Amino acid sequence: MSAAGSQDMKRTWSLVPSTSRRRCPCCGRRATHFGLGGGVVLVMGCEFSVRSWVRDPVEEQKRYLRAAMAERSLRQSDPER
Ligand SMILES: [Zn+2]
Repeated sequence: MSAAGSQDMKRTWSLVPSTSRRRCPCCGRRATHFGLGGGVVLVMGCEFSVRSWVRDPVEEQKRYLRAAMAERSLRQSDPER
């Protein structure tokens, strides 16, 4: 039995519709691209971050998660509002 699973996780990128207001966790600009793994959207960000994620998925995913977590903790510890 051969399962079409993790080995088939080819990473590609695609353009985000301009109606999306998602922001890139690495630079804070509007996310223009998203990264797909096995047909599932895994990351969103600027062209640079998504392209490098496609090239080097492991490293870029770490960076992405770090940035997202840093942004979240910044928001939680926001002294005003
Ligand atoms: Zn970015």
